Amino acid sequence: MHQMTLAEIARGLADKKFSSEELTKVLLARITQLDPQLNSFISLTEELAIEQAKAADVRRANGESGALLGAPIAHKDLFCTQGIRTSCGSKMLDNFKAPYDATVVAKLAAAGAVTLGKTNMDEFAMGSANESSYYGAVKNPWNLEHVPGGSSGGSAAAVAARLLPAATATDTGGSIRQPAAFTNLTGLKPTYGRVSRWGMIAYASSLDQGGPLARTAEDCAIMLQGMAGFDQNDSTSIDEPVPDYSASLNESLQGLRIGVPKEYFSAGLDPRIAELIQNSIKELQKLGAVIKEISLPNMQHAIPAYYVIAPAEASSNLSRFDGVRFGHRCENPQNLIDLYKRSRGEGFGPEVQRRIMVGAYALSAGYYDAYYLKAQKIRRLVKNDFMAAFNEVDIILGPTTPNPAWKLGAKNSDPVAAYLEDVYTITANLAGLPGLSMPAGFVDGLPVGVQLLAPYFQEGRLLNVAHQYQLNTDWHTRTPTGF
Ligand code: GLN
Repeated sequence: MHQMTLAEIARGLADKKFSSEELTKVLLARITQLDPQLNSFISLTEELAIEQAKAADVRRANGESGALLGAPIAHKDLFCTQGIRTSCGSKMLDNFKAPYDATVVAKLAAAGAVTLGKTNMDEFAMGSANESSYYGAVKNPWNLEHVPGGSSGGSAAAVAARLLPAATATDTGGSIRQPAAFTNLTGLKPTYGRVSRWGMIAYASSLDQGGPLARTAEDCAIMLQGMAGFDQNDSTSIDEPVPDYSASLNESLQGLRIGVPKEYFSAGLDPRIAELIQNSIKELQKLGAVIKEISLPNMQHAIPAYYVIAPAEASSNLSRFDGVRFGHRCENPQNLIDLYKRSRGEGFGPEVQRRIMVGAYALSAGYYDAYYLKAQKIRRLVKNDFMAAFNEVDIILGPTTPNPAWKLGAKNSDPVAAYLEDVYTITANLAGLPGLSMPAGFVDGLPVGVQLLAPYFQEGRLLNVAHQYQLNTDWHTRTPTGF
């Protein structure tokens, strides 16, 4: 039962092969049995899950249908869930029970999805390995000695290990696509503004975007359908109609123009990954796509720009966690400054503190022009590169990451080494573009992802290309041993 995708679950529920309650119980038992190896959940919400599953079964019995009605999912632990701990992977929010549901949570619940729990993540979504969580590192089900990627590592590991079919995640610089690549999943970061950020605890507000992690493009389409849409509570939410993502999955790829940036195949890329990317290109050519070499000349400046902008926004967003308005409060403060210092010093882990310091520095008088403003100018150049490229091609293809998942602890002593791994993903966030990662093969038994990028609001096209690719390849069906 646990092997089923969302699409298969929807068919099984519609055909009354099983109930949502039965399926939910099977998956909850599986999580209890297997998750100790992975640490992919911070909280399990068994009671809520059973209650929602029963309600979904009643709605189906009353004639309602819908791909998410009765489908078990989980939420990354930065989506606010009313009355349920929403920790953001931080000691700072260890005892925070959100007073309301995030829009994404409310929308998925209204569609009938069943929440099994809240998934582990890098603290405040800062990281690429899920090792900065206050609740401990998450293990990669493909090799328990390796990281699952981050910051949505809990969602990724849980879905990859077949603990559940899909989960929500967020992507500020790659945190949906990179863990998807590391765990053999399909992950979609939508256009900035497509999915509401209301109730999604902010890391870097101009970059953050929620999206789905699932095993197939077909399932990502189902999840995105439930998540996307205008929200008047989010001032950056975009009032554009949401297309039917499942309806466009079967469009032909004949004549599709795929751009492959020459900058992608530089020295930093593992040659074995380069080969798998070439194979995926050949596969898409067989389906009628036409390949064109393109250039993204400012790509090399994207990492430094991102690692100024993201910490700058984070330093501002995280100022609310001061032990008074929000978050952990230290014992016996001597005065107000002592209260702030110790509450923040105790509540935030080292990576979060590092970023707050970098961000506050970049925004400070005298350095603002030199760092923050300069980074914003680079951001515009990165966007312009994409706009020029999309005059010539329909989608851009390349590796999701330069290397496969590294060993736990391997990059802990050198944060910059981890930052450099974001080279292929962060440009989409800087430009606000949609991006998808899908399985493309294995290197030393570890999964490799191929990334597709599209113009604004072309999520449907990304899902269409990925679905056609998945109809003709079987990488996405491979299951990690032991799960
Ligand atoms: N690895 C990037 C960072 O640490 C991206 C994280 C994310 O997308 N949330 O900032």
